[in-house]
Amino acid sequence: MKSLFMIFIFLFAGTLFGKIKVVTTTTVIYDIVKEVGNDKVDADYLCRGDQDPHFLEIMPKYMVKLRNADLLFKIGMGLELWAQQLIDGSRNSKLKVIDLSSDIQKKEVPSGKVDASQGDVHPFGNPHYWLDPSNAKIMAQEIYSALASISPGDEAYFKSNLDSFNSKLDGKINEWNKKMEPLKGKAFVFFHASWTYFADRYGLRIAGYVEPKPGIPPTPSHNAELFNIIKSNNVRYIMMENFYSDNAPNQIASVTGVKVIKVPTGVYGMQGINSYVQMMDYIIGQITKTS
Ligand SMILES: [Zn+2]
Repeated sequence: MKSLFMIFIFLFAGTLFGKIKVVTTTTVIYDIVKEVGNDKVDADYLCRGDQDPHFLEIMPKYMVKLRNADLLFKIGMGLELWAQQLIDGSRNSKLKVIDLSSDIQKKEVPSGKVDASQGDVHPFGNPHYWLDPSNAKIMAQEIYSALASISPGDEAYFKSNLDSFNSKLDGKINEWNKKMEPLKGKAFVFFHASWTYFADRYGLRIAGYVEPKPGIPPTPSHNAELFNIIKSNNVRYIMMENFYSDNAPNQIASVTGVKVIKVPTGVYGMQGINSYVQMMDYIIGQITKTS
């Protein structure tokens, strides 16, 4: 009887003082959740940092992750078109889904009718906003609000974590601005249209993309067009995510003499990249080292 009572107390305390169960679609969100939630959250992610977040294979293990979660954070804007199937499959009626794009100044949002029939993976605008570090602060704010509304008693704790994250990021933002300054106005070719927010933040000129359309693999005729674009814009670098095949960029490089820069755009996307700040540090380090 006594042990039964103890089990009851344990279970009760478990729900009362338990951690908030959070799942994130990407590792960048996961990292910011850990910054803001720290030891009050039990966090996990779905898409690995070295995977293309547009395409995640639907697997039962992801539904299991969502089964007991309180919160699912996603980038939104159609990046995770696979997420709904996982949410439905998890049969978790208490799951709250938070779209982190709500307060983001969205770019490349189509004004007309949305048409994804051509295979364009950005039918709702460009979802790669996390590559502008000032947007990471907006994401952190949204994460803070969601955590505080689930666990109002920990509001002050989350707020203080949010403040430290923001001040750490502000320091890095100043440093990155200075490093990127000399690149203002320079033309780049990117593999995928993931770099709009990044390019706008630092004043880079996007001369073209290796993909004919977002999500459409390179074609010989489009590569040929790029040869001219690269020559006429004096492009010296092709920048790409490390999870894409570099066959086309290397072929373009062999013809035009441009250099290919491969970087992760997810946390854990490469060995040694264990946080958002480390990831941005690496990207900016690579582009400024070679440019
Ligand atoms: Zn994309």
